[in-house]
Amino acid sequence: MTDIIELTDLQRRFKHGDIDVLALRGIDLTVAQGEFVALVGPSGSGKSTLLNLLGGLDRPSSGEIWVDGVPLQEADEKARTAHRRYHVGFIFQSFNLLPRLTALENVAIPLMLAGVSRAERDARAQAMLERVGLGHRLDHYPSEMSGGEQQRTAVARALIHNPAIILADEPTGNLDSVTGDSIMSLLKQLNQEEGITLILVTHDEEVARFANRIVKLRDGQIVEIVEQERPSSSQISSPSSQPQGKGHLSFGDIVRGALLNLRRRPVRNILTAGGVLIGIVTLVAMVSFGVGVQIEVQRNFETVGLENVFVSPQFAEGDEFDPFAPPQAEQPITPAVVAQIEAIPEVTAVTPSLILPQGIDLTLTLNDEAQPIRVSEGGESRFSFGDTHETLAGSRLADGQSAGIVLVAGLAEKFLAGGETYDDLVGQSVTLTARLPRGETADFPTTIVGVRDSFGSRTIDLGLTEREAIKAWWFGQPDILQTEGYDMLMVRAVELGAVTAVIEAIEEMDLRTQSLEAILDVANQVLALLQALLGSVGALALLVAALGVANTMMMAIYERTREIGILKALGASRGEIRSMFTVESAMLGLLGGVFGLFFGFLLGRFVDWVAHRYLINEGITGIGPLSVIPWWLAVGAILFAILIGILAGIYPAARAAKLDPVKALRYE
Ligand code: ADP
Ligand code: MG
Repeated sequence: MTDIIELTDLQRRFKHGDIDVLALRGIDLTVAQGEFVALVGPSGSGKSTLLNLLGGLDRPSSGEIWVDGVPLQEADEKARTAHRRYHVGFIFQSFNLLPRLTALENVAIPLMLAGVSRAERDARAQAMLERVGLGHRLDHYPSEMSGGEQQRTAVARALIHNPAIILADEPTGNLDSVTGDSIMSLLKQLNQEEGITLILVTHDEEVARFANRIVKLRDGQIVEIVEQERPSSSQISSPSSQPQGKGHLSFGDIVRGALLNLRRRPVRNILTAGGVLIGIVTLVAMVSFGVGVQIEVQRNFETVGLENVFVSPQFAEGDEFDPFAPPQAEQPITPAVVAQIEAIPEVTAVTPSLILPQGIDLTLTLNDEAQPIRVSEGGESRFSFGDTHETLAGSRLADGQSAGIVLVAGLAEKFLAGGETYDDLVGQSVTLTARLPRGETADFPTTIVGVRDSFGSRTIDLGLTEREAIKAWWFGQPDILQTEGYDMLMVRAVELGAVTAVIEAIEEMDLRTQSLEAILDVANQVLALLQALLGSVGALALLVAALGVANTMMMAIYERTREIGILKALGASRGEIRSMFTVESAMLGLLGGVFGLFFGFLLGRFVDWVAHRYLINEGITGIGPLSVIPWWLAVGAILFAILIGILAGIYPAARAAKLDPVKALRYE
């Protein structure tokens, strides 16, 4: 018969500060496959220490320990984890079932750690529970079962992955004698029917009777070995333990486990997630205000015309001023040049303007009623900053290629016959008469297109067509646009950021530009500063939240020390324990992030509402939303929350992973 366990001069020394405890002082023992060995001895004789060494939970100080072909004295962490996972099954005195899992789930743990699919491990766990007589307790939690039932569940868990060896540490110690006997009968039956090697610690003589051999320990040494009956040779040889499933805990199971843990302590986890939540709420609300205010300010800048570039020709130096000679531009703004500027990709609109010569004398005649008038310069609304004159009738002159005139109310009044309204003037044909200082006159027929509100009683807005005609006549140049070009252009960039590019392109054409770029730069700096400020308040809040998550995870480790020990005994690796804790704290972060985003949105809405009430009270209207959550803020906030969770979990997870399973199992 092959030996499954070989111990040679095995020693285990514990150092506790200055005190040295030699728990095992040179054990020599071989155990045959399929044998049932009882380890007996007084408390403190080293029984549990020996069992932990056999199970790969602990490492010997010296000597050799071969178990199921594995030289455990030289096995590293990984090899010992594999040993626990595939070669041995543990049964403890205090059952060590995981309280939040059902009997079925507890039994399935070793298969879960081995990466066996859920359907398969459930089926196998059910079969195993039926085998130990618990077919009717599948969905019961440990707290709902008697001690005997719990230990049967533990036996099923120890057997589920077909280990070659079962290690049982006083399995009947917490049971009454009748229940204890039934557990022992079960173990004995498994030992005989399956050929599983059974190493069982007990100090109960009755229990030891079931064994083939009794090994008596005292002060870390074997003092006596009592042979009872050799295992019958008819025994089936032990099933060779082999890896099943994927060989590691699946990510889905890690996530499921984390969710279970989160549900187990709802109040604490909600409070912890609440910490993240407050951080995210602050961050989202603050940044959303930064974004909202920026959009609003930008919008206001746009109505002011910050993205407008004014283009004029450059004039040669030293020209004598002559009102009757057109100024000599180096590069006149001809319609061809306008077309060229319109073709610049960052340009959305080009509005040309013509300025009438100084000192021109104009008269407007309607139905024999003649009135002296003056022409508003740049009468098109967008040329003046914030022209808010109300349109009283008809329409206003459109930007660019327009024809017709708009009268101010005071002038329109003079042309109204009794009972007529402004609307009656719209569409009427009128004549503009221009007079040169030396007396020549010319008539220009045009049409009234609208009436607007303004001061004065002489002003008209004049269309580009009429301006061109008057200028051509004044200078005696019919093709004045082709030769002299426009006086000025207003070029609108697609957005504030494109203004510089537009300016550069136009200046390449030897034209002069003017814009409010300097103001724009300052404004953008102020806004960036504002956002940085708001963002850092949010980040600070998140840091506090991270400390909260870290704190909860640390508490969870203390609380779950024993559970971690059990999982390790059942074959969970350090990496898997670390993943479990990391995923759990990432989920806390995610939870806080999602709710934080939601409440941050609500808070933004609320503060926005209050701010609008205030602004309306102050007489400021037309302000858009101040709290805006763009997609990148929403996505960023949630990712950030998860990151906070992971960062906060790094240290606790590493600590949990490093826990010594032997100490963890002793922990109460
Ligand atoms: P038994 O299971 O036979 O009651 P143990 O194997 O638990 O005994 O302990 C044997 C001796 O080793 C005892 O003196 C105990 O105090 C000591 N011991 C066991 N584990 C540790 C440990 N982790 N640290 C220090 N001493 C230990
Ligand atoms: Mg013990």
